[in-house]
Amino acid sequence: MLFPTTIAGSLPKPGWLAEPERLWPEWRLAGPELREAQCDATRIALFEQERAGIDLVTDGEQSRRHFVHGFAGALDGVDLAKIARRGIRDNRYDADCPTIVGDVRRTTPVHADEMHFAREATRRRLKITIPGPMTIVDTLNDDYYRDRKKAAFAFARAIREEIEDLVALGIDAVQIDEPAFNVYFDEVEDWGVAALDACIEGVRCETIVHVCYGYGVDANVKWKTKLGEEWDQYAHIFPFLAQSKIDVVSMEMAGSHVPPRVLGLLGEKKAAVGVIDVATDRVETSEEVAATIELARQYLPDERIMCSTNCGMAPMRRDVAYAKLRALGAGARLAEAFVSHAPGFQIGTR
Ligand code: ZN
Repeated sequence: MLFPTTIAGSLPKPGWLAEPERLWPEWRLAGPELREAQCDATRIALFEQERAGIDLVTDGEQSRRHFVHGFAGALDGVDLAKIARRGIRDNRYDADCPTIVGDVRRTTPVHADEMHFAREATRRRLKITIPGPMTIVDTLNDDYYRDRKKAAFAFARAIREEIEDLVALGIDAVQIDEPAFNVYFDEVEDWGVAALDACIEGVRCETIVHVCYGYGVDANVKWKTKLGEEWDQYAHIFPFLAQSKIDVVSMEMAGSHVPPRVLGLLGEKKAAVGVIDVATDRVETSEEVAATIELARQYLPDERIMCSTNCGMAPMRRDVAYAKLRALGAGARLAEAFVSHAPGFQIGTR
């Protein structure tokens, strides 16, 4: 099959589980009731992806409140209660950040319960998303290592241990989320890609790195307006990712100012091309999705193109997010139909 589909990771949570249309919502329930509701929400997230024809599914991150704190906070050495506000992603926005207070160690599985549940609940290929070392370090205060590289490698070890356990549970793919790669180019070159490789050293599943321009929230939308007519961030980092051990690079494309030619910098890697814009509630048509795939085809052979959303859909309206899932699935199949019926066919851009 050409152009297999996946999502960046998160889907909106139902209103009975958490506050709707919030990035870091409060849970509506607690204790065993909360766990049961998270499982039910996971069933819905999987069902909606299956219904939309998504090939590599996630649990929609229905059991996580915050995509970094959820993983990092479960490790020894990170104090979730010791919070200090600071500017993150090179001061793009302020965030309340937990603190590294000691040696970072993974003493217990973090996402095993929810992945075990998701594995039993779907026969599709299943992906877990985990924040990457640089993004974790950029989202915490560090009172212990006081050295971003050192701290990053400590988290990389914990991530690798977690992935190994999840692969044993039957997951098919892991996606390391590194939005910070789009901000700190020098660190990507110095140690970011090495830390990424340390996360996946020896793991036996498909490996993906997701580098994006963030959720469709105000601070990011504002930041994007300052990036000019052509966004050159990927051009700085793709040559280094091309040298990494990762299998797939997940990147933003739809509705952005990312020049498609950056795909030509990925060497032999596959790309999970963002064909769904998460910064707008307007739902793409299948033809628009197919047209974005056609742009990617100018720089990559068909067998190295996957399709995804630009980023997570956690803060979106549920009906919009589910409609976008269906546009993703239908658009990829439309593009495949065009290509297989007429190999030289150009879908065209409009
Ligand atoms: Zn993202």
